[in-house]
Parts: sequence; structure tokens; C-alpha cells
Amino acid sequence: MSKASNAELPKSVDPYKLAEQNSVLEGEIPLSALARFRESVLGLGDGAVCCVRLSFSRDRERRRIVSGELEAPATLECQRCMGPMATTLTSRFVLGLVTSDEQAQQLPKDLEPFLTDEFSADLWTMVEDELLLVLPPFPLHDRNECPARDDLEALEPDGAPAEPEKSGKENPFSVLADLKTKH
Ligand SMILES: [Zn+2]
Repeated sequence: MSKASNAELPKSVDPYKLAEQNSVLEGEIPLSALARFRESVLGLGDGAVCCVRLSFSRDRERRRIVSGELEAPATLECQRCMGPMATTLTSRFVLGLVTSDEQAQQLPKDLEPFLTDEFSADLWTMVEDELLLVLPPFPLHDRNECPARDDLEALEPDGAPAEPEKSGKENPFSVLADLKTKH
């Protein structure tokens, strides 16, 4: 969905009008403009953008909703080696448009509220909130790619349960162990 030539996503829109018109907005947000996000990551590439696609509509219950997807590159700090770790954050979300806390409480559980004014919504802040939600709380390199891997293994006491040796294909149990430790 990302193209280098994408236009900037509008910052402020009338979300209710867009929902009546079943509008789709597609665009980019320069990540450097999102201060809270910028401060939550180790780094951002030069000119890095968040690609966003938002569909405004009404659902079967006539609620106005925004379905969105986003994708943004960022550098996080690996919590094992404290080194930089490049990653791509992605998110899909469905929000119910509301103008008050009372309306927000009436939304079904599968709809997150998107609290806006009657005629204007700040899309950049909404996207930033979604980005912060998908930031991993404890980012880690894949073990085999982490520079701290050798240090950690050297530090592990002799009596500690050893990782399966990397004899790989000959030992089906190491494959199973690998599968279990993922996710
Ligand atoms: Zn690491």
C-alpha cells in the first residue's frame, strides 16, 4: 500500500461527513512530526513516514466507523543487547466515532472509541495513538541475530539447562524446541 509519491494524510477532517460519503483516505505522515512516538523509539530513518489507509463508513447498526491500517518503520532498542533493532510496525484497527464519553461507553467491545469534535478529527494524533499501541513493550532481536547472544551464553552458569546444540537437522528435538520458543 505504500508508494513513495503518496500525498500527506490530512491532519484535520470532518469524520462524520467522510462516513456519510464512504470515503477512503490514503496518505503518509512524516514520523518526525509525531513527537510522542519519536520519543518512544530509539531512532527514525531520515524522512521516514507512516503509510496510512483509512475507510470511513457506517456499519450495520448505522454507527460511524473508521477502519484503518498503517505501516511505519522504526528503530527500537533490543532489550537483550541494548543495540539498535530495525523493525516495521503495522496495525489494523476499527474505531467507532464518538463525540462524548457517554457515546464511547455505548460502543460494543470490538470498537475502540475515537473521540472527536462534532466536525473535526485530528487524524495524526489518532494514528500516533495507534502506533504507540503496537510498539512492542520488550523488543528483542531474533536470538540468532542479537549481538549479545554469545555474551549471554558465556555468562550462563555451567549448571544451567543448555540450549540445544546447533546440530540442527540431525536432532528433531532441537527443531521442536525452536518452534516452542517462537511467539
Ligand atoms: Zn539484541
